[in-house]
Amino acid sequence: MTQEWITVLGATGSIGVSTLDVVARHAERFSIYALTAHSRVDELFEQVVAFSPLFAVVSNQDQANRLQAKLDGVLSTTQVLVGETGLVQVASAPQVTQVMAAIVGSAGLLPTLAAAKSGKRVLLANKESLVSAGRLFLEAIRENSAQLLPIDSEHNAIFQCLPAQWQAQQSGDLKQAGVSKIILTGSGGPFRETPINELSDKTPAQAVAHPNWSMGQKISVDSATMMNKGLEFIEACWLFDVEPDKVEVVIHPQSYIHSMVQYSDGSVLAELGQPDMRTPIAHAMMFPERGDSGVAALDFGTIGSLDFNQPDYNRYPCLQLAIEACKAGQESCTLLNAANEVTVAAFLEQKIVFTDIAAINGEVIRHGTAIQISSIDDVLAVDALGRQLANEAIQKRSSV
Ligand code: NDP
Ligand code: MG
Repeated sequence: MTQEWITVLGATGSIGVSTLDVVARHAERFSIYALTAHSRVDELFEQVVAFSPLFAVVSNQDQANRLQAKLDGVLSTTQVLVGETGLVQVASAPQVTQVMAAIVGSAGLLPTLAAAKSGKRVLLANKESLVSAGRLFLEAIRENSAQLLPIDSEHNAIFQCLPAQWQAQQSGDLKQAGVSKIILTGSGGPFRETPINELSDKTPAQAVAHPNWSMGQKISVDSATMMNKGLEFIEACWLFDVEPDKVEVVIHPQSYIHSMVQYSDGSVLAELGQPDMRTPIAHAMMFPERGDSGVAALDFGTIGSLDFNQPDYNRYPCLQLAIEACKAGQESCTLLNAANEVTVAAFLEQKIVFTDIAAINGEVIRHGTAIQISSIDDVLAVDALGRQLANEAIQKRSSV
């Protein structure tokens, strides 16, 4: 079997760790080219010792010196690189065949784009890059014969439920293929049953305690506001080239159905499994083959019932904002994504309350932008504006 070289962007995160677990199960097939981290240098060091990558990337020179000293101590030959230049280098190196894009937020945009431009199989966990740069990102994939395999469990499930021909090309007219609707499922997060008037009292610790999935802090808060489902709504429109009115969000608290595709003859295909990201990761890494992910099979004797409800926008205003942004266009999506990164971080730092996240995100979208996005520089400018507006709104709240 030919050895494939993988770069894992965001190796120390929740998706990164799950990816390395799958890689370790298939050591005869996959080798690690590079591992990257932002703040968790000690965790990265342990990963480097375990996987002996050619490169390790950290965000600044101090971290690089610290990591280098630790690596010297174990006579490691892994080379340490720094910052965005390092990330782009390891995402686009010629030997690399697959890049796991698992940096959180728009910090992942440029390295993920570099992987697309270098014709890699892009394993896309970093939904924020697709939300903030949709068309430009997909053009980079197509023009460079890259492959785009969704890691997000919903989109990976939808991918698996689409016709084989679409899967092979990762593009095509889904309407012609008989697809009438894409149904995104979401658990509703930890506050699904909390009285709405108590939401403003919820703490960061309560917001990140997701009932079914174990994930990084940002996406956990996004799940509590359902902004995550909103970002996934936008992600689905781009990935599957469908209009917003062909995407429906359904609350499914048990998280066993990861999403569904409805066909014109009334059939609905669903992908089911444990809420464990190693399943979509293994699927995307080994597609079109299948291989062990380490995830236990579902036990239908113990699952019990599967429930479905409509989302209530009074409880989840962020979901509504994202659907509106998706209909309004790229600029609104980029603004919203940027504002949300800032408001979620501010909530985690207890500078604003839980319900301020949606309120400020809404103010930023309503402000809008005069910039029309036609290049990555435009994306970065709108992203910067969204951050600035959100920061101003946060400051205003703390000064009253
Ligand atoms: P984590 O917070 O657990 O991990 C994020 C990773 O990105 C870490 O390796 C972190 O480094 C790195 N990172 C953070 N900021 C920067 C930066 N400015 N520059 C470079 N690297 C950075 O997040 P998750 O693994 O949960 O999520 C990663 C992505 O995958 C997100 O886009 C999320 O939406 C998506 N996703 C996650 C799912 C999940 O189950 N976790 C499910 C579906 C999608 P360090 O740890 O060293 O600080
Ligand atoms: Mg998801």
